[in-house]
Amino acid sequence: MKIICVGRNYADHVKELNNSFNEEPVIFLKPETAQLQNRMPFFIPDFSKDVHHEVELVLKINKAGKNIQEEFAHKYFSEIGIGIDFTARDKQTELKQKGLPWELGKAFDGSAPSGKFVQVSKFSSISNINFSLLKNGKVVQQGNSSQMIFSFYKIIAFVSKYITLKKGDLIFTGTPKGVSKVEANDVLEAFIEDEKLLTVKVK
Ligand code: MG
Repeated sequence: MKIICVGRNYADHVKELNNSFNEEPVIFLKPETAQLQNRMPFFIPDFSKDVHHEVELVLKINKAGKNIQEEFAHKYFSEIGIGIDFTARDKQTELKQKGLPWELGKAFDGSAPSGKFVQVSKFSSISNINFSLLKNGKVVQQGNSSQMIFSFYKIIAFVSKYITLKKGDLIFTGTPKGVSKVEANDVLEAFIEDEKLLTVKVK
């Protein structure tokens, strides 16, 4: 399986990092080794002093597809969950400044925890899903899928032009504002609506 991530998909987050807006989705990948199951601890890697949390809605792909048209994209996922795109911001910034790919700041071990998934049929509208992240009991990030610059369907259509999607692949769909540094002993809890679906202890 592979993890496909969308960057710069919420305007308020693009602004907080002083990034530019793009005409097409910004895409990067994380390998299978970035996965972290619910309730597993996250270890801050020793190459970074500035790892940030980015809470994101996650699509779980349920069948293979290539060149998927936007109007059929809904057939390629039946569950939505929540995850954290952990980012070594110092490493990412260093690589960005050199004009190099940011993979090392994004794709490291354990950098993509995801929690329990919810059936799409449980949502009244998937373009109006509230999600949030609590750090040590305080809300630090809040978003709604209506705020995405590129919708779930647009992301699937765009990515599948370049990369075949396979069953079990995960798509992290971007983070709203409020990203910040995590420290050892922090407890992160991610919610969709009122339901806690992911807990990560930082070590
Ligand atoms: Mg992200």
